[in-house]
Amino acid sequence: MNKKRILTGDRPTGRLHIGHYFGSIKKRIELQESGEYEPYILIADVQALTDNFNNPDKVRKNVREVAIDYLSCGIDPKKTTIYIQSMIPEIAELTVFYSNFVTIARLERNPTVKTEIAQKKELFGESVTYGFLGYPVSQAADITAFEGKYIPVGEDQLPLIEQCREIVRKFNHVYGEVLVEPEAILSNGKRIKGLDGNEKMGKSLGNAIYLSDTEEEITKKVMSAITDPNRIKKDDLGNPNICMVAYYHNLFSSQEEVKTICQECKAGKRGCVACKKQLAQNIIKELKPIREKRAYYEAHLEEVDEILKEGTRKS
Ligand code: SF4
Repeated sequence: MNKKRILTGDRPTGRLHIGHYFGSIKKRIELQESGEYEPYILIADVQALTDNFNNPDKVRKNVREVAIDYLSCGIDPKKTTIYIQSMIPEIAELTVFYSNFVTIARLERNPTVKTEIAQKKELFGESVTYGFLGYPVSQAADITAFEGKYIPVGEDQLPLIEQCREIVRKFNHVYGEVLVEPEAILSNGKRIKGLDGNEKMGKSLGNAIYLSDTEEEITKKVMSAITDPNRIKKDDLGNPNICMVAYYHNLFSSQEEVKTICQECKAGKRGCVACKKQLAQNIIKELKPIREKRAYYEAHLEEVDEILKEGTRKS
């Protein structure tokens, strides 16, 4: 049976956090284990430079860190090929050819790009770089260079796949049926809010729990999470629907625990400190196997480098 090739990737700008874990990594492992797919994961270091051009060391360092996170979570290099974008110069070459098929106006209208530019005002000021504006073109090269047919994405990434499909159609119209038009698979991954209640979890926002965090770091972060602000004393009646601790209990605690937590909180029979300690313990327990595997790979960096070299060679 011919396996369907799927492509995913991440920009190596920092270690992966639980938002990545629930948002995409779990889905990738599920697809990998289904046996129906031939998964490729791109570590997009060239793309990471589009908004980190002034900090190449950060990108360089995080290529290996992201690879260790993948392996620690259960991405299996025997089933999934992990490769590094910058080590395949043909991707950059294709990007140049594709750039003739996209107008500046079209890129500026792309909703995903628009949102990201607005978020990066501090870096770009009033004038965004040509490289950043054009990253969907480079992404089209990432996808088509490998004849990627199925691309698991979140809903917010759909405009990037549509952009790629447009490039493919225009290219094929001029040069013949050369490129494969990709299809998005909605990953249904959850978008995880930050500890501070922000819709997005991220390093720059200081509201993330990393897969590599120590037990002490996890506990410290959980103790700082936002709770129901109207609750001052333990016997005040609480509202778990506006509490980030309850939100994370839904991700990391059993259904039975969540039920008890909500009942006790609403009845004013539960202290927030105890509630946070319980959550911290559950997160620590869930991430323990990931941390243990990370410790193994940190002690065997040559193995990680070999996996990246082999994946890139195959790609
Ligand atoms: Fe949140 Fe728990 Fe405090 Fe209720 S008791 S407000 S769920 S931390």
